[in-house]
Amino acid sequence: DMGIVNAAQLAVYDDLPAELRERVEDVVLNRRPDATDRLLEIADQYRGDGTQAKKEDQEWRSWPVAKRIEHAMVKGIDTYIVEDTEEARQGVERPLHVIEGPLMDGMGVVGDLFGAGKMFLPQVVKSARVMKKAVAHLIPFIEAEKADGASESNGKILMATVKGDVHDIGKNIVGVVLQCNNFEVFDIGVMVPTQTILEAAQKHKVDVIGLSGLITPSLEEMTHIAKEMQRLGMNIPIMIGGATTSKAHTAVKIAPHYDNPIVWVKDASRAVGVAQSLISKDLRTKFVADLNADYEAVRERHAARQKDTKWLTLEQARNNKIQIDWANYQAPKPQFTGTKVFDDYSLAEIAPYIDWTPFFHSWELKGSYPNIFDDAEKGEEAKKLFADAQKMLKQIISEKWLQARAVIGLYPANSVGDDIEVYSGESRSTLLTTFHNLRQQQEKAAGKPNRCLSDFIAPKGQDDYIGAFAVTTGEGIDAKVAEFEAQHDDYSAIMLKALADRLAEAFAELMHLRVRQEFWGYETPNCSEHGNGNGCAKPKLAKPDTETLNYLISEKYRGIRPAAGYPASPDHTEKDLIWEIMDVKANTGIWLTEAKAMVPTAAVSGIYFAHPESSYFAVGKINREQVEDYAKRKGMTMEEAEYWLAPNLGYEP
Ligand code: SAH
Repeated sequence: DMGIVNAAQLAVYDDLPAELRERVEDVVLNRRPDATDRLLEIADQYRGDGTQAKKEDQEWRSWPVAKRIEHAMVKGIDTYIVEDTEEARQGVERPLHVIEGPLMDGMGVVGDLFGAGKMFLPQVVKSARVMKKAVAHLIPFIEAEKADGASESNGKILMATVKGDVHDIGKNIVGVVLQCNNFEVFDIGVMVPTQTILEAAQKHKVDVIGLSGLITPSLEEMTHIAKEMQRLGMNIPIMIGGATTSKAHTAVKIAPHYDNPIVWVKDASRAVGVAQSLISKDLRTKFVADLNADYEAVRERHAARQKDTKWLTLEQARNNKIQIDWANYQAPKPQFTGTKVFDDYSLAEIAPYIDWTPFFHSWELKGSYPNIFDDAEKGEEAKKLFADAQKMLKQIISEKWLQARAVIGLYPANSVGDDIEVYSGESRSTLLTTFHNLRQQQEKAAGKPNRCLSDFIAPKGQDDYIGAFAVTTGEGIDAKVAEFEAQHDDYSAIMLKALADRLAEAFAELMHLRVRQEFWGYETPNCSEHGNGNGCAKPKLAKPDTETLNYLISEKYRGIRPAAGYPASPDHTEKDLIWEIMDVKANTGIWLTEAKAMVPTAAVSGIYFAHPESSYFAVGKINREQVEDYAKRKGMTMEEAEYWLAPNLGYEP
């Protein structure tokens, strides 16, 4: 037996009208002889333009208030929540009972469906919005009653993005998911110094501290916090999360410094289970024993790998650099040298360059755009999320919520060993700055080079050039996010941040395209007839077609734009040099925190390389010899260099 399902029309099974569901099931499962007749009896109600179905949609408005609230929570409908909450409040003895009753029940259903993989993150965040609006309505009544307001929660959790780091989309999402599961969450924001975190933890008597970070210096900061908690004799367990964090890093670098549990949380969907296990008396002992055993195994594997690493000396690695035939290379000459500033760039022009796949990832919907729409499980939710995104994107553009600003620079340059000298003029006599790079230092398979970014720039004696850029689409975002948060609308706040990030990446893509085609001018414009960069003089497409966009996203073009803090150039402090030579702060408003995170967060910066053989790679682990050499070149102490290169150290400092 088989059935055919239109995946695009899948609904939450429990949401199908009970009568319709029963009669369809009767047919599909062949449960009764008159099944067909009974289905036909009601079929008329679902015919035609769907007006009937729409009426059906409103049927829930006639249900008892508790059921209505639960329905609104599960479906994420906030239209009637304040009036329903008020009605429920009038029917109970104390306003708190509304929270403990229908609201908690609703959230329980949401939590269960999410846990079972029947609901996805965007839906959960929408449900949380309904919950928050209801609670906001009840708070004045609870306060008037002078009740202490504290309902029995599952536990208290402090959340913070560590010092020097500003990213918080993931942290906000985890906070929302935890709240949905009846944890009390204290989110104390971004760039939070250790002392503030620890004071807040004590003040609120929290059960768990959640630390979040996106950039690599945050990893060191987390270790520092663990050491500090150990020193102070604290015993609150820690959850670790964020893009550069990992189980290996947590096990090897953080956990050994603290005698209490430190757990790496892979994504928002795991946060609830981990928090529960850490707080519950019944679960904790076994959970912690398993955790310790698991992390011990990770540490052993790590130590074994470290011992097996086959190092080259720095000299050997340099001798095995990428071989580029410089004698037969003529570097393209940019149309100008120096900087060019773009103020208030058109968002409408940027938006078509958005790569949507990472947008779905930021909502923990894994899959690639547009195929994700056909996914049997997530497809429907992905479509709704995308529709919401398109709607907000239109508003961002038409109501000018955000401003785009950029600066690019093009300069004469030459490589000197692993460094790149950047000159202020064609005479190459005045040094503007020196970029420093790291070289892969582990033994390679035969014929494979030990790569370093400086290999893509011609050595002294031959003209070559380099570029730099910094773009942002984040100006104005704070006011708008604050507006949404004041309306208890996390969904829109997170949506806006995710879209601003997308626009920044799109802006970087568009700017790189313009650099290749206009400002550096080594790539001929795209042409719909002759393909990309194929020698046709037609002007670049005002709006990229799908083929062009795919070509851009897959980075098939000539040249790269590595970003400081990424695998090919892992040292975040190189951003300082970009900021210096292009006066990035004055020209774009983007500034760097002490950990070199960019603010606004919707920003991208990096360096342009034009050589056809230039490509991305990962420097990977390096040894003490190279760190010493690098520290000397950078004018840093060994400690400073080891701090900034911590994730790349192939030895214990
Ligand atoms: N279309 C993607 C582009 C961002 S990821 C988006 O919209 O999110 C790709 C960018 O990350 C590259 O353009 C480069 O700037 C950076 N990058 C990727 N791999 C890198 C590496 N190994 N070293 C340095 N930078 C890298």
